Amino acid sequence: MMNFNRTTAQWQELDRDHHTHPFSDPKALGEKGTRVITKAEGSYIWDSDDNKILDGMAGLWCVNVGYGRTELIEAADRQMRQLPYYNSFFQTSNPPQIELSRLLSEVTPEGFNHFFFAGSGSEANDTNVRLVRHYWDIKGQPKKKTFISRHNAYHGSTLAATSLGGMGYMHNMGGEGGSLLPGFEHIGQPFWYLEGGDMTPEEFGLMRAQELETKILELGADSVAAFIAEPIQGAGGVIVPPATYWPEIQRICKKYDILLIADEVICGFGRTGNWFGSETMGIKPDLITMAKGLSSGYLPIAAIGMQDDFFAVLNGGGDINHGYTYSGHPVASAVAIANIHYIRDHNLVEKVREDTGPYLHAGLQHLVDSHPIVGEVRGRGLMAGIQLVKDKASRTTFSGDEDAGTVCRDHCFSNNLIMRGVGQSMIISPPLTISRIEIDELLAKAKI
Ligand code: PLP
Repeated sequence: MMNFNRTTAQWQELDRDHHTHPFSDPKALGEKGTRVITKAEGSYIWDSDDNKILDGMAGLWCVNVGYGRTELIEAADRQMRQLPYYNSFFQTSNPPQIELSRLLSEVTPEGFNHFFFAGSGSEANDTNVRLVRHYWDIKGQPKKKTFISRHNAYHGSTLAATSLGGMGYMHNMGGEGGSLLPGFEHIGQPFWYLEGGDMTPEEFGLMRAQELETKILELGADSVAAFIAEPIQGAGGVIVPPATYWPEIQRICKKYDILLIADEVICGFGRTGNWFGSETMGIKPDLITMAKGLSSGYLPIAAIGMQDDFFAVLNGGGDINHGYTYSGHPVASAVAIANIHYIRDHNLVEKVREDTGPYLHAGLQHLVDSHPIVGEVRGRGLMAGIQLVKDKASRTTFSGDEDAGTVCRDHCFSNNLIMRGVGQSMIISPPLTISRIEIDELLAKAKI
């Protein structure tokens, strides 16, 4: 039996000695010691010293229905007893993965009726790369292999997902460009506040979208397979593109016959006040990447949604030589089904759109008006970024060695609030079940 009766110091020592953490410096973390999270309920988590912490990040933007939901727990328990595992390779299927596919065709935007499953958002984006290249090959355009994404984008950590992403420090792990595959190109991000200079947001949005056209012409349209982006960029700092951006991107993709992939790993399942961020931003993608909110993080599962036209091509193209042992895992699928029902039954999408989302943003707007270092608040629904600045008038940020985001994150952490620092921004992405009273607590704790 696992021994849960350890002191915080004992956990930290074992953690340092045996557990290597993602996105962390092992030595520095070992010296500092991790905060060990032991239980959770609703919008709160507890650490091993029994501190109650408000989770303003829903884990990693994923626990959309909040913690401790018996509907999801019982779905896992039932399915584990009935059929804990079977694969979907070699002509087998199982009821949860079939039912989940059907249910996804109800909640995803019109025309999405076909779903391929993976274990994580990164695997799902890898799958996009492989399926899209397969698609163009079937269509007799095998040269169409290059993917275009944006600087500072995050699409996951596998090699292809790292390459799709635009984070330099990830590309350079393993030496300069050591984790960047050929066939992946990047253009500027539509981050008006810090990069827009004297332009209006509309001019800037158009300019950044047109970088896609320039890149396509530089590479040759016959070599470009797809453009991928989040409807609202999450880990990059909750960047909402100006209104001119997405229509222009959509126009360019259509003109040059380039597929559009919406990475909805964060934006999906109600986060922005609609089921999908594509609806919030008025985009019509060919493919949608889903993970996180698909199961509210209770079990790992991800999916790629395909438009009918896209799937019709695969459907005539022979074997799909791609898949994972855990594609459509029955227990994870059963939990995802219970999760979607929970979101529906509790009207969480409407609640975010009409109640808690506007309430959070109104509270945050107050910070812009009153706090000396809050320059801008961005986002939609329950997804928000707070831009920290040294000087509001000139939109000047703190310099790199004054990492304001990390300072504020640590302040919140010691104040029993989880918020994330991304460069010079603070990120908020709480469970979609958060109440107004909990939002008040979040705003009060976030203030320095
Ligand atoms: N895409 C986006 C937009 C993400 O935010 C993430 C993770 O944060 C991923 C993909 C990768 O998902 P995962 O961590 O499940 O591999």
